[in-house]
Amino acid sequence: MTTASLTVALAGNPNSGKSTIFNNITGSHQHVGNYPGVTVERREGFRRFDGNDLLVVDLPGTYSLTAHSLDEVVARNVIIDEKPDIIVNILDTSNLERNLYLAVQLLELERPLVLALNMTDVAEKMGLKVDEAAMSRKLGIPVVRTVGNRNRGTDDLLRTVAEAASAAKHKPFTLNYGPEIEARIAQITQALASLTAVKYPQRWLALKLLENDQDVNKAVQILPGWSELKAQVEAARTQLKALLGDDPEIAFAEIRYRFVGEVYREVAVAGSDWAQTTSDKIDSVLTHRLYGLPIFFGVMWLLFNIVFTVGHYPQDWLQSGVKALSDFLARSMADSALKELLVDGVIGGVGSVITFLPNILLLFLGIALLEDTGYMARAAFVMDRVMRAVGLHGKSFIPLLLGFGCNVPAIMGTRTLENPRDRMVTILVSPLMSCSARLPVYTLLTAAFFPDYLAGSVLFSVYIFGVMLAVVMALLFRKTLFPGASEAFVMEMPPYHLPTLRSIVTQMWERSVLYLKKAGTLILAASILVWFLTNYPADVPYSKDYDQAKAQIEETFASQAADQVPLPLGIEAAEENTALLAELDQQRKDALVQLDKDQASEKLANSYAGQFGHLIEPTIRPLGFDWKIGVGLVSAVAAKEVLVSTLGTIYSVGEAKENPSSLAGALTDDPTFSPLVAYALMIFTLIYSPCLAALAVIRRETNSWKWTAFSFTYSTALAWLIAFAVYQTGTYLGF
Ligand code: GDP
Ligand code: MG
Repeated sequence: MTTASLTVALAGNPNSGKSTIFNNITGSHQHVGNYPGVTVERREGFRRFDGNDLLVVDLPGTYSLTAHSLDEVVARNVIIDEKPDIIVNILDTSNLERNLYLAVQLLELERPLVLALNMTDVAEKMGLKVDEAAMSRKLGIPVVRTVGNRNRGTDDLLRTVAEAASAAKHKPFTLNYGPEIEARIAQITQALASLTAVKYPQRWLALKLLENDQDVNKAVQILPGWSELKAQVEAARTQLKALLGDDPEIAFAEIRYRFVGEVYREVAVAGSDWAQTTSDKIDSVLTHRLYGLPIFFGVMWLLFNIVFTVGHYPQDWLQSGVKALSDFLARSMADSALKELLVDGVIGGVGSVITFLPNILLLFLGIALLEDTGYMARAAFVMDRVMRAVGLHGKSFIPLLLGFGCNVPAIMGTRTLENPRDRMVTILVSPLMSCSARLPVYTLLTAAFFPDYLAGSVLFSVYIFGVMLAVVMALLFRKTLFPGASEAFVMEMPPYHLPTLRSIVTQMWERSVLYLKKAGTLILAASILVWFLTNYPADVPYSKDYDQAKAQIEETFASQAADQVPLPLGIEAAEENTALLAELDQQRKDALVQLDKDQASEKLANSYAGQFGHLIEPTIRPLGFDWKIGVGLVSAVAAKEVLVSTLGTIYSVGEAKENPSSLAGALTDDPTFSPLVAYALMIFTLIYSPCLAALAVIRRETNSWKWTAFSFTYSTALAWLIAFAVYQTGTYLGF
């Protein structure tokens, strides 16, 4: 018996079941190494089947075969350089349409191909049946069904592989790109034919050159006659761009998608299964071309209304708790600097931040629900269209969505973007996604200056403004700093399902722990620092002698009271007398409180923080901000919640000790503030410098101080300009 030796390469999308099938085929006969020259894992295994010695190579999982990531280049170079006898493309049938995109690209490489429809069990549960015979006819290649995790269909697959390998030369598959493109392909193919033979299939090479594939360009550069060819390619690309109104690579990708859609509709037999049709019906609404975006905005609007309205109650309870603690300490401790540090610094600062925990939890609850049900993927799909219109990689929106929680994981999430330009742009705009740390600032200001029925919409408007600004800035950066083409991307659509209580509760718990940790460390440290800066120097030059002024009041009161010393008169007169005395006493108290307040605010104004604040005040005056806001904004670069804690400390330091009010109350009483100033401040907080943690991650991920400094500078400048526009326009309109 003769044994043929066959090399079989397994290709497929990530999570299509490649490794499972690889293990099914090879059992224990496998080893892991790296591809030559790159550190991408290479798994190889052996299997003897029906007189064939099979060498099975597991290619890296990829969604496409463009030259945009190392994995994709490795996968296609193995196919081109090592010329495996057969490629087995493993498809996740429950996501057939997306998986077919890779299949079409593999077909275009003109190597013998077998399709394995894996996960057919999942597909059937979703009510999706696939007509393999029709698929095989349409694509001209064998199609086999498998269920990897139950080792079903493996032998069938191997038999088909062996047959396909011994079959006569297969007929090459060609996807028709339409007359305009085909004419150029023909022209380039002809030019290529006159060049020295190259290892690439000619039609494929022509396509890749027209797509301006960097990797192929590099490989072809060394050929004699390249410069002439390059001129032809350039001319053809320019013509195509004019004809198609788009970069050729985008047009090509669209044609492939269209073809994939056509194949899918021909071979997919959707059962009348409830889950499938319902999910399709829901998708057709949620990701609709026109309504998709308004629905997304509507969902966000609802979310922020709930965050504000429902969050209000527990927030009030926490606020009363914090106030009770502060009152208790104020009563029970002897006057000292420590007492003031605790009451004004720690409780005024950290306490004010902690009260926003319920709102933050509600926000995360909302995000977790939207994510777990599968809606976020639809939102990403809808935003993908917008993103692609501005030239940003569709995948960018997934890290950006993470930014609603915290910008740090969002920036780290950009690692999934292979194209370095896309990645830089996404890193630069992701801080514009309003993170949960900014929510306390918005909630405080909204509650203080806007009526309850508007509050949710005000919050929503700030978040959406951030999203829109991110899109605009991405477009701007893409056009100026990082020009170049973007690639097409197929979005993964997880099936809808009910979120599990367990996963939601775990997420809430983790969030609370993180928030309280941050309050207990960074925000505590910032509050203590701010307290010192607002309380010292201890001796400040006052504009008048407050002690003497107080003594004066007491003296005046004493003499007035003495004048009223009752003569032995009638009962009526005595009553009148007591009333008068009470009134005088009240006047005395009011005057003393006022003096206290004046003294405290004068002391505050002369403190280190006050001096610094007044120094920078001229730069923010045009935005309607005063020095207190200035101090808050500078300290809040540490973490955005620190704006709340700093204002909390400043207002409780600058307040008479007798009748402290809530921070929101203090803000409402401050004539600097108005709804307009509050809104300008929210916008400024949204846009200006990323917090320290985010800046550190930007530094690490870009590996560049220059871009970190740029991120800080552009966002702060932009914040100033937009807050200026908001405040000045608002003032002009009479708000
Ligand atoms: P890879 O990323 O392509 O290598 O995918 P894996 O082989 O790691 O498979 C991803 C997951 O899908 C694993 O949990 C497998 O057990 C599971 N899986 C693989 N094939 C099937 C299948 O046919 N049906 C079902 N239901 N699950 C499968
Ligand atoms: Mg794997």
